[in-house]
Amino acid sequence: MTDCIFCKIIAGEIPSCKVYEDSEVLAFLDISQVTAGHTLIVPKQHARNLLDMTGEDSSRLFARVPDLARKIMKATGAIGMNIIANSEEVAGQTVFHTHVHLAPRYGNEDGLKIDFTTHEPDFTALNELASQIRQA
Ligand code: AMP
Ligand code: ZN
Repeated sequence: MTDCIFCKIIAGEIPSCKVYEDSEVLAFLDISQVTAGHTLIVPKQHARNLLDMTGEDSSRLFARVPDLARKIMKATGAIGMNIIANSEEVAGQTVFHTHVHLAPRYGNEDGLKIDFTTHEPDFTALNELASQIRQA
């Protein structure tokens, strides 16, 4: 028995609107539909989020993303897509089974707001930060 809602969807214990399935991944419509066609793709093997996965496991998940994204766009007529993986609570993760959101975009007024605030670049600070990340 698992408490994980996406493991239950994968096991067929609770219903979902499936859009793609193979031996390693399942994709289904997000119940909240931030935009029409909003889809989640998840690995069948439980992992908390991308931060908890190996490169190999995550690459098998992401290998399915471009084809799935194009299928969703073809079906919906969307003109772009936000592809997002919220990882940990501070980043907005509410379901702790790795999932990638595919949110079709139809225009600036389609209801989805993603706001990366821009700042004036401080190249000294950027170089220092890049160096810290390289060495981590
Ligand atoms: P996140 O906030 O990134 O963890 O995203 C979790 C997503 O799962 C939300 O967009 C929810 O709408 C979606 N969700 C939760 N329960 C279900 C469900 N039973 N079927 C489909 N989507 C779900
Ligand atoms: Zn799970």
